[in-house]
Amino acid sequence: MHRFFVPPKTLGQEQIDLPEEVVHHLGKVLRIGVGQIVLLLDGLGEVCLCRIEQLDKRRGLASVLERWNEPETAWPIDLLQALPKGDKLDLVLQKGTELGITTFTPLVSGRSIPRLDEQREAKRRQRWERIIQEAARQCRRPRLPQLSPVQELEKALGGCSAELKVMLWEGDCPPLSEVLGTTRPESAAILVGPEGGFSCQEADTARQSGFTPVSLGPRILRTETAGLAVASILQYIFGDLGIAPGRSKPGPQP
Ligand code: SAM
Repeated sequence: MHRFFVPPKTLGQEQIDLPEEVVHHLGKVLRIGVGQIVLLLDGLGEVCLCRIEQLDKRRGLASVLERWNEPETAWPIDLLQALPKGDKLDLVLQKGTELGITTFTPLVSGRSIPRLDEQREAKRRQRWERIIQEAARQCRRPRLPQLSPVQELEKALGGCSAELKVMLWEGDCPPLSEVLGTTRPESAAILVGPEGGFSCQEADTARQSGFTPVSLGPRILRTETAGLAVASILQYIFGDLGIAPGRSKPGPQP
């Protein structure tokens, strides 16, 4: 069944006025007509089964047949990603949403190439939010991951309250398996450097903020690969990548 995210306040009503882009998608792209059933979601867990009651060029109306709340099944992972060059963050956001990252924190470190002024950041942010929403729609994730503002490394480190904090560091340090315990922590944060890596001083600052350096083995992964690899491993061990839909999670429990 087709599904669309709509602004949370819209979903509170019994007759839902569909946003312009949803009207366009239903009418022009999918060529769906009056009487069709769709799912509308607010991105916060509320889901409505709806019937399209009116659909023309300018306006779409849907009535709510049933509503319910869907919990987040992904285990909380905050990906603290140093801004990569060009549009590589787009890929991280799209794939990370599919893999179950719950918060994205883009950050600027000493060797980050992109420097965004306020205007460019606001424009990028709109695009990043669209990418997250589209990925969540495609992979049928009912809750949208959060996107934190772009921040300086030290601020991002200081604001991180995850229980398990790992810094991906290509220097001499233990592998991820040695850092993971047998019980499931409440949440995790994964810190990933830019193309040029973190400086030793930045790595020290991260250590002082409670981040344990971990190695991903002998191959140097691209910045956009490294975080996604670790997110997949963690979501498999502690989260919902290792379960069949509808079953409870085997393996380490809190
Ligand atoms: N400038 C570094 C070099 O040439 O040695 C490579 C940086 S790498 C492209 C970008 C980031 O990915 C690193 O800062 C680190 O966070 C992560 N990363 C990549 N490969 C890794 C590995 N084998 N172990 C741990 N972290 C890795």
